[in-house]
Amino acid sequence: MYCQKCGTENEDNATFCQNCGTRIKPKENKNDISKLINYKAILIGALVFFFVLLALSVVIILVSRTTNLSRSLVLAVTVLGFTMIITGIITSFISGKEYSSGLINTIIISISYSILFGLVGGLYGLIAGLIFLIGFGVIGSLIGVLIYRKNNKYNLTG
Ligand SMILES: [Zn+2]
Repeated sequence: MYCQKCGTENEDNATFCQNCGTRIKPKENKNDISKLINYKAILIGALVFFFVLLALSVVIILVSRTTNLSRSLVLAVTVLGFTMIITGIITSFISGKEYSSGLINTIIISISYSILFGLVGGLYGLIAGLIFLIGFGVIGSLIGVLIYRKNNKYNLTG
């Protein structure tokens, strides 16, 4: 491999030119967002969110017959939070060992559902969705990566 700056021939696996020190091998950009996005994780996470939320909502509506508004709000936030934590755990577990990857995939799901809440509930729905879903999603995401790392202790070097 020839150096682009001075023309010196270097070994093929060299990172820097042995004559002038210029980088020959292009730097790998690990923070490239497109590399962190995992569509499979996002799709499965989005489905998990939908079905867990649906199941919990049905159970809560059947079990609780409260007409107390503040109690209903607490229940709704609890259900949303629990659902998003589960979603974050599963999404990040599928995303793998990188915290950034799990976080990005989980936040994409959070923002998508927040926009959906915004379409149903207006600006208030959007803002509430963003705050709760991203907040709980981040918690779930960190747990998901920790579980992944615990289960893949021996092949983290790759
Ligand atoms: Zn050179």
